[in-house]
Amino acid sequence: MKEYSLEPLEFRPILKRLIWGGRKLGRVLGKPIGPESDYAESWEIADRRDDVSVVASGRFAGQSLRELVRTRGDELLGAAIGPKEQFPLLVKYLDAERVLSVQVHPDDELGARLAGDNGKSEAWFVLQADPEALIYAGLKPGVDRSTFQRAIESGTVEPLLHRFHPEPGDCVMIHAGTVHAIGGGVLLAEIQQMSDATFRVYDWGRVGPNGEPRALHVEQALEATDFEIGPVDPLRSPIQAFESGTYQDLAECKYFKIKRYRIDRRCAIGSSDRFTIVLGVSGEGEIESSTGARLSVAAGRTILIPAATGKNIVNPAGTVEFLTCVAPSTS
Ligand SMILES: [Zn+2]
Repeated sequence: MKEYSLEPLEFRPILKRLIWGGRKLGRVLGKPIGPESDYAESWEIADRRDDVSVVASGRFAGQSLRELVRTRGDELLGAAIGPKEQFPLLVKYLDAERVLSVQVHPDDELGARLAGDNGKSEAWFVLQADPEALIYAGLKPGVDRSTFQRAIESGTVEPLLHRFHPEPGDCVMIHAGTVHAIGGGVLLAEIQQMSDATFRVYDWGRVGPNGEPRALHVEQALEATDFEIGPVDPLRSPIQAFESGTYQDLAECKYFKIKRYRIDRRCAIGSSDRFTIVLGVSGEGEIESSTGARLSVAAGRTILIPAATGKNIVNPAGTVEFLTCVAPSTS
């Protein structure tokens, strides 16, 4: 007999410093950053190699996500997701103070073969963007493998990339095989497969912390790029009304499905056959679970609702905006 049943969980952030990071993870999202100027990523829900989330508070404080997936998989993941060795999604916040490298991620088959990792399809939800900020997503129409290869070899990749000025609230679906770069001045939430398989094709002529250019992975990137994808723009789906406010269907792929809610009345979130991830966007509210747990919903807060807790109530303090993310059935 297990002493307690699972409750909604919040994890300690795993902070990553990289050359393109800044200080917004602390300043805007309240993450516990130190004095340095290059805080790039906050991994909120992670179960990959040495990066494993640990529960921050409540009855399960100190337990790792990996341990919970292995010992309480049915309760946590739910029957629709089935037993898993590893939590299937990675959720992080990124502060691109400067542009990231131009990169591409493999699909599952190539990820296993070339990187010993899962494939990586990812979705971005823009939280803040400077007026001049850019996102590069997809290749311009007609760019084929040989054109792209020549551009990589001559360091002239940028003119081949489709780009746009992102705005807060934009959601961008980056399927595996899409060439992309997040530009400087963008703060976003990223939901992706649990993977870190990245092939870098261009790093804007800059050097890493050791004064040397960071490694490029040209062969692998050419193999991983899907030249059929073409330009990628933010998703524009209709905002729909329901009894508690509005919702919008955002990115959807084989691995996850994201919805955006804006509510000013109580609303039920979660389902007993699968886990639900909640990410606060703006305003404030609280998740009230039947387990008695109470967790704040606000910008920078990420909550994992175990399947076994069923429906949980989100209680807005005024208006609260948040994303939910679920995984489709495995079968
Ligand atoms: Zn990426």
